[in-house]
Amino acid sequence: MAAPPSSRIAIYPGSFDPITNGHLDLISRGSRMVERLIVAVLRNQSKQPWFTVEERLQMLAETVTGYANVELAAFDGLLVDFAQARGAGMILRGIRAVSDYELEWQMALMNRRLRPGIETVFLMAGEEYSFISSHLVKEVAALGGSVAGIVPRAVEERLKRRVAERSR
Ligand code: ADP
Repeated sequence: MAAPPSSRIAIYPGSFDPITNGHLDLISRGSRMVERLIVAVLRNQSKQPWFTVEERLQMLAETVTGYANVELAAFDGLLVDFAQARGAGMILRGIRAVSDYELEWQMALMNRRLRPGIETVFLMAGEEYSFISSHLVKEVAALGGSVAGIVPRAVEERLKRRVAERSR
């Protein structure tokens, strides 16, 4: 049997396609709130990703360094089932603007209904990161704009390569 969910273990789920400095800020702040933070890449999603789950995990591994209590994972199926299996009592999410709120609110309430023992906790995005999304980063990169300072250096390089590959 899995351990009962602990509020000292949190899951930070997302697409991370690719990781941005906004995600990194959330990971850094979230890691100080809990004993273990599991950054988890969602496998089953309908969005057309630019990077495979394995590539996204690689980018996370290259950039999420120096945190002894942060782990990386990928998951399929229901987030609350994954959280339960890992003994996590907290789901961490970020809120950038009012536009994030509605979907986050729906997901948090649905997850609470599915597993009442697991709480969703929201952190406000850092003010310098609140306009950053993976989607916008890809759009700017595809059009030849600079995303320096918005994503980690290693991600910037990978984005350039992916843009070149996609335009072939
Ligand atoms: P999803 O497809 O689940 O929205 P994302 O990778 O886009 O996956 O985001 C994962 C989580 O990180 C979400 O809670 C999102 O609101 C949050 N997030 C994304 N970008 C930022 C940012 N720039 N600052 C803070 N939180 C962010």
